[in-house]
Amino acid sequence: MNTPLIYVRRRNARRYILRVDDEANVRVTIPRGGSLEYAKKFAAGHAEWIAEQITKRLDRVAVRNSEKSVLFRGESIPLVIEGNTVCFGDQTFSMAEGEDLRRRIRARLFELARTELPGKVLELAAQYGLSVKRISIRDQRSRWGSCSTRGNIALNYRLVQTPGFVRDYVIVHELMHLREMNHSSRFWKLVHDAFPRTQEARDWLRKNGRLLAH
Ligand SMILES: [Zn+2]
Repeated sequence: MNTPLIYVRRRNARRYILRVDDEANVRVTIPRGGSLEYAKKFAAGHAEWIAEQITKRLDRVAVRNSEKSVLFRGESIPLVIEGNTVCFGDQTFSMAEGEDLRRRIRARLFELARTELPGKVLELAAQYGLSVKRISIRDQRSRWGSCSTRGNIALNYRLVQTPGFVRDYVIVHELMHLREMNHSSRFWKLVHDAFPRTQEARDWLRKNGRLLAH
């Protein structure tokens, strides 16, 4: 192990303590009456554990440095991490020890999607006089939404990452399938009439298609 260990004497410590901090520094606490010699042996006896902890911390630092922003509601929002607290925009949440940051953010976005999207679907459906059977939120890699012949609408949770008008376009698109279960010119006329920013929204989705791959 190449990491230099920091030995600290603590008169109020009752035993030898090993600690690896967020920056992967390793600290060995020597209790009252303890010796540096024993502390070294103690650390050597835990070499494997120390190495594991260091790897974990360094991985996390690497993730932190590579993940500086989150696409949220159509904007690149800076990611702020302090200790175990993660913030972006109006979102603040905690992360468990050793938890994967990307996965945690994804879970948060999914949660938000489940809270926000169904209400939006119902609101737009009412606006167009349509009724929806069931709404589900999914983690789909290939599409933004779908509508079944039974009137069930499924939406990609990543819609919370798109601008509001893009999210609404996808919802209106799926809703219009309740009238036309295909992509005929009749269907597209329905969509364009119902949602004037259709072309702009489709352009955004095409430009940001890679969002689906994450
Ligand atoms: Zn469609």
